[in-house]
Order: sequence, then structure tokens, then C-alpha cells
Amino acid sequence: MNLLEHQAKAILAKSSIPIPRGEVITPDTIGQVRAPVVLKSQVPIGGRGKLGGVIIVQQQSQVKTVIKQLFNQPIRGYLPQSLLAEEVLSIKRELYISLNINRDLATIELLAHQAGGIEVEEQTTAVFRKNITESTIDSIAIKLAEYFDLTEQLPALHKLLKNLLSCFVANDCLMLEINPLVITPTGNFVAGDAKITLDDAAMFRHPEWPVDQTADHNFVLLNHEGTIATIANGAGLAMATVDAVVTAGYTPANFLDIGGNTTPQKILACFNQIIELPKIETVIINIFGGIVRCDDVAQAILDAQHQFPHLPQLAIRLTGNRANEAKQLLATANLPLFTTLNEALESLS
Ligand code: GDP
Ligand code: MN
Repeated sequence: MNLLEHQAKAILAKSSIPIPRGEVITPDTIGQVRAPVVLKSQVPIGGRGKLGGVIIVQQQSQVKTVIKQLFNQPIRGYLPQSLLAEEVLSIKRELYISLNINRDLATIELLAHQAGGIEVEEQTTAVFRKNITESTIDSIAIKLAEYFDLTEQLPALHKLLKNLLSCFVANDCLMLEINPLVITPTGNFVAGDAKITLDDAAMFRHPEWPVDQTADHNFVLLNHEGTIATIANGAGLAMATVDAVVTAGYTPANFLDIGGNTTPQKILACFNQIIELPKIETVIINIFGGIVRCDDVAQAILDAQHQFPHLPQLAIRLTGNRANEAKQLLATANLPLFTTLNEALESLS
């Protein structure tokens, strides 16, 4: 699972890695933001700076306009559900540093580059690359300080490496990247940006992890202002469901194919994505159970109702594999069940 920048930075901060002062803002909390401020679109991809997703605002009078602009601006198809508003850092240098799993060697590998920031992928000069462990960290810190030409900052760099490594291990990361690692004019290191990929296989021992909002659930946002969310299985049925919603005169918010080997946890993550959308009135669930078990979906629906008390109304059509068991489950929650999609749609008017 890929974390958003603000989630990754929260994890860094817990490991005593300095991050800029800042706060997460949603469309409801715009009023509190004070200039000067850096506003950063929270989308699960990098390269936002070049695509207009990172904006420094100096004037208080501009803050609201820029926030609205960012909320309405998709970055490579992702519309942010939140922004990060941070203090503006004074930057003396931008470095690149990351830890990654080297699967061939079964090691943790440190990558670093002298030129961090948005141009790092275009650099051609040598990359610093070393396997790193608790026992080699002291010598690596010395070499890295030389590579960065920061020998005076060796103690701070050493501490940073130690914190990064323990953060990486304690949080079951697959990748942890700080780009830019900012050096301020006073010589402090601050994580200007952060990316973390968590190892989904370690989910069972991390109840504190957020429900994954970015994994591939075949969730395609069609219209942020749409009033009907759709959940279906199989790309064909999912498309037909979207079409039927349009034909019935409504605006579908999304396309979602939950696929064949779906789990209640994945379905919960889909609901999590849907309830972030501002105008949803109804969630249409259209399942033709072949490989997917209808009772699994039903159980996930019940779990979602429990987890999200303000779920929009649901219009459910389940048929096929274990549909009877599903019906029994849903009957306990008084949820209406329809035998055809049209009936489900007609029930809305
Ligand atoms: P990315 O483009 O998605 O990687 O977003 P970043 O958070 O890395 O920001 C891109 C670039 O914006 C950074 O490399 C910096 O050059 C610049 N930037 C971001 N925050 C600040 C800041 O607080 N002060 C200054 N001066 N520049 C910033
Ligand atoms: Mn960056």
C-alpha cells in the first residue's frame, strides 16, 4: 500500500525524523490556513510539483483561491481528497535519500543522490548505493557524509540514518523515500516530501494502518460530483451498471469492478473511497456471483455499515453464488434487496 505524503510524514515524525510544521486540510477546514504556506495536493503519485500540485502562497488573500484550485485539479487522474498545508521551508540544498528492499540480496538498500528535488530522475551523476544494517550504519554514515560533502553534519546525518532504518523496519516498509531531504540555512535536515510503501503482507500486525485507499481495486473516478456510486463485479457488469445509472437520469460518480478474488477487506476499502466523495446519495451494488461469493459481499456490506455509520442509502442486487446466504445476512440488517438492476434504480425515484 502506498501512503499519501501526510500519512508518510506522520510515520517519519513518530520516528523522530524532522518534518515541516503543517496540517491536513479537507474542503471543510479551509478557513484555518494562514499564509505564507505551501499547499500540496495529497494524491498517491510523485512529480506533483511539475504538474502544479505544489504551490507556495505568500498572500493571505490568495489562500482560498489556491486551495479551491488544488481541490478541483486532478493530478494524473487523481483528485485530492485532502491537501497538506505546511510552513514554507528555506532551502539551502535539496538531497535525495531512500531505503528499499533489495529482493535479490534480501537486504535493505540505501540510495542517495546529491541533487534531490523535482529533477532527481534526470540526474546522470553517480548514485550512492549501499546495503545498510544496524552494524554497518556507522561506516555508511561517514561515507554518505563525504558523498554529500557534509562532513560537518556527520552527527546529524548519522542520527537521521539510524532513525530512518528503525522507522523502515518497525513499520514494515517496502520503500521509504525522502525527496527532497531539505537542508535549511541553519544546517538542519527536514523531510520536505515523503513516500512510503507498506508491505501489505504485514497488515495483520499493524492495526494502526489506514484502510488502503490507493490500491488497485479497479476504482475509476468518473465524476467527483456524482450522486450515485457503483460497485459491481466484472468489468462488463460494472460498465453496464454505470450505463444503467446514466440511462435512469442520474450522474454516476465512479466505475468499480471488485474483481473475482475479492475479500471483505477490499470491499471495505472501496466503501472508504466512496464515502470520501461529497455528493453521493446512493450506492448501487450489483453483483453476479460466479467466483465472487455473494455472502462475502453481504458480510462486507454489514461491516461497512458498522464502520461507517453515515453510509449513504444502499440499493443492492445480488444474484448467483451463495445468494441465499447473502439474503439471510442482509435481512438481519433490513437492507432492501432487488432481483434486477432496473428495480434497484426505480426504487430511487
Ligand atoms: P513532488 O513534486 O510531488 O515530489 O513534491 P515535493 O513535495 O517534493 O515538492 C516539489 C518541489 O517543490 C520541491 O523539490 C521543492 O523544490 C519545492 N518545495 C516544496 N516545499 C517547499 C518549501 O517549503 N519551500 C520551498 N522553497 N520550496 C518547496
Ligand atoms: Mn518530492
